Amino acid sequence: MICKLCFHHCDLSEGQTGFCRARVRRDGAIVPLNYGKMTCLALDPIEKKPLRRFHPGSRILSVGSFGCNLRCPFCQNHEISMSRDGELEMAEVSPEALADKALELKGDSNIGVAYTYNEPLIGYEYVRDCAALVHERGMVNVLVTNGTIEEAPWRELLPLIDAANIDLKGFTPEWYRRLDGDLETVKRTISLAAKQCHVEVTTLLVPGENDSEEEIRNLAQWLASVDGDIPLHLSQFFPRYQMMDKPPTPVEQVYRLADVAREYLSFVYTGNC
Ligand code: SF4
Repeated sequence: MICKLCFHHCDLSEGQTGFCRARVRRDGAIVPLNYGKMTCLALDPIEKKPLRRFHPGSRILSVGSFGCNLRCPFCQNHEISMSRDGELEMAEVSPEALADKALELKGDSNIGVAYTYNEPLIGYEYVRDCAALVHERGMVNVLVTNGTIEEAPWRELLPLIDAANIDLKGFTPEWYRRLDGDLETVKRTISLAAKQCHVEVTTLLVPGENDSEEEIRNLAQWLASVDGDIPLHLSQFFPRYQMMDKPPTPVEQVYRLADVAREYLSFVYTGNC
């Protein structure tokens, strides 16, 4: 049985877990192992997602689980993204309980729920079920995602999503292959989302890997061809996970590349510096 949620198309036998560690074949169906299992829950400023041009000054109830369908050696959240079921302490939170909690926090400037921290789309069914209930309560849904999802499930989910920050981790197929990802998939995810909801894009600048002027110029040019008003966040890298040997991105390099991107885009922000 093949999982058609992302381009990995894991071919799973009964009881087998997919590449993302979050989906399993059970009783002849592929189901999310991480449904309703929270590893993180916090009321964050919306700017932390990061979203700079969507309800500025508000806060959002942010939730995460475990697993990921990429293998970035620089992952900033590897403790949860690379975990398996049962390895971490988790709270069980039903979609109803989450939507009610979001509403309860409205008085604390909360505007809805952000699905974030690990890759939320591998827990597709949970995001879908929660998002419908959050909308019923008149609140918004925000996704923070690597954009690695097939077209059909993405189109189906988009009407429930109000804003997304989508990682564009570079702009060469080779770099994406090193992360076990697919550049064209992420480009399609961004293009489709930009037609239906508020979108911002984040690129972490890894020294010597994806931080050449040519690559960021190509990335910004392409993003401008989708919509020049999509905000782009260029973030400084810090040594993490399997990339402890690399120095942080020089701050001047982040600023220089932001200026390059500004030749094509209306809103470019620098992050972590
Ligand atoms: S979502 Fe997970 S199980 Fe499904 S194809 Fe992608 S990596 Fe494999």
